[in-house]
Amino acid sequence: MRGLCPRCGSPVSYYERQRKGGRTYVVAVHYMGYDRGPGGRVRKRVRKCYLGPLGGYEYVSRLHSREGLVLKGLSEPWRAVDYLEALAAYISEAELGGEEALRLAETLEAIAKALRIRAGGRS
Ligand SMILES: [Zn+2]
Repeated sequence: MRGLCPRCGSPVSYYERQRKGGRTYVVAVHYMGYDRGPGGRVRKRVRKCYLGPLGGYEYVSRLHSREGLVLKGLSEPWRAVDYLEALAAYISEAELGGEEALRLAETLEAIAKALRIRAGGRS
C-alpha cells in the first residue's frame, strides 16, 4: 500500500512496522534524499509519520476520508452496505465526467436490478 500520507499529505516512500509494548504500529516513511554527515559519509534522510496501530482501521480510513469511508472490521457483516451508502453520498456531491457518470449509472442499475430480483422477483 503506497499513496499519500494520511497525516501530512506527502507521497509515502514505504511503510514501516514498529513494535511497542506488544502492539504493532504503522509508520509512513518519507524519503527526503541524502545529505553528507561528518567525514563526508552519505546519510539517507527520512521523515516518519505515525499512523496508528496495525489491525486498527483508523489509518486506512484516513486514506479514504475524502470519500467519507470509515472502514470496518470483518466482524461487521453489513459493512459493504455502509460503504456503499457512504460512497453514494460522496458521489452525489462529486464532479463526475459524462462518461464516468454513465458507467456508474449502469453499474448501479445492474446492482439495483439484481437486488430487486433477490428481494422477491420484482424488477
Ligand atoms: Zn507523512
